Amino acid sequence: MPETATLPLPVARSVADLRRTVQAWRAAGLRIGFVPTMGALHAGHLSLVEMAGARADRVVVSIFVNPTQFGPNEDFTKYPRQESSDAARLAAFGVDLLYAPQVEEMYPAGASTVVSVGKVTDRLEGVYRPGHFDGVATVVAKLLNQVQPHVAVFGEKDYQQLLVVRRLVADLDIDTDIVPGPTVREADGLAMSSRNAYLSDDDRAVAASLPSVLNFVATQLRTGAEAGPLLEAGRNRLLKAGFAEVQYLDLADATTLAPIEKADRPARLLVAARLGNTRLIDNVAV
Ligand code: AMP
Repeated sequence: MPETATLPLPVARSVADLRRTVQAWRAAGLRIGFVPTMGALHAGHLSLVEMAGARADRVVVSIFVNPTQFGPNEDFTKYPRQESSDAARLAAFGVDLLYAPQVEEMYPAGASTVVSVGKVTDRLEGVYRPGHFDGVATVVAKLLNQVQPHVAVFGEKDYQQLLVVRRLVADLDIDTDIVPGPTVREADGLAMSSRNAYLSDDDRAVAASLPSVLNFVATQLRTGAEAGPLLEAGRNRLLKAGFAEVQYLDLADATTLAPIEKADRPARLLVAARLGNTRLIDNVAV
C-alpha cells in the first residue's frame, strides 16, 4: 500500500474516505470538478485539471490503472506508475484531492456488474480492443458514482471514449456535465500520451508523422474531397514513414462515429497505428 502521509496533497484510498470529503464539500454548497486518469501525468492531463478548476470550487483527480480496460496481451503490468511525482504535479496545480484506490477497493471479491455501451463502441477501438470499452464504461460509471462531481473533463485525445462517456452519462441519468478537453501536443505535433514513453528514439521520430498525415488528409477533406482515395494515401504515407501497421484511418460522423464518404457534416478523422509494440491513436476535427 503506498504511503499517504508523504504525498503533498490530501489522498483518499477508499470509497468511504473519498465520500467523507466530497459529501462535506457538497453540504457546503461547493461545486466539484473531476478528472479521471491512469497517472503518468503529462501536460495533457494537467490541461484538463485546469479546465476542471475553472468550472468548480474543488477539484478531484483520480489515478487508477484500471485492469478491466486492458486486453490480455496489452500493457497493464508495464503501464507506467509514478504516484509521488504525479502527486507533486497535482499539488502544484492546486488539486484538492487525489483519489487513488487499489484494484481490490474498486473491484472487491464478488463484483460482477459490467456497464456496456452499445453502437458507438462497434467500430474503431471497439474492433481492435475487444472488451476495452466495457472496462472503461464500468470504471467511469463507478468513479462518477463515487465522486459525484458536478462536472468532469475528458480529453478529445480519446475521442471515441469521450463519446462513450457522454452516452453512458445520458443513458444512466448521471448528474454530471461532461466537458471535452482539446488534445495537447508536443512541439512536433505528436499528441501527448503516457504511452509515448515506450517509444525508442527512432520510433519517436517516426511517430511525428501521425499528426502530420492526419492534418494532410483533414485539410484535403475540408475541401469536400472524397474520403476513400485520401484515406488510402494517408495509410500508405504512414507505412512509408515507418509505422508497422495502420489499424484504421477513418472518416466518421462526429457524433455517431458512423463511416462517411465526405466531410459534409461535423466529422472526425481518427487513426490507430502500431510502431513496434506501441499502439498510438490520434484524431482531428474535420
Ligand atoms: P489516461 O490517463 O490516458 O486514461 O487519460 C486521462 C484523461 O486524459 C482522458 O480523458 C484522456 O483523454 C486525457 N488525455 C490523454 N492525453 C491527452 C492529451 N494529449 N491532451 C488532452 N487530454 C489528454
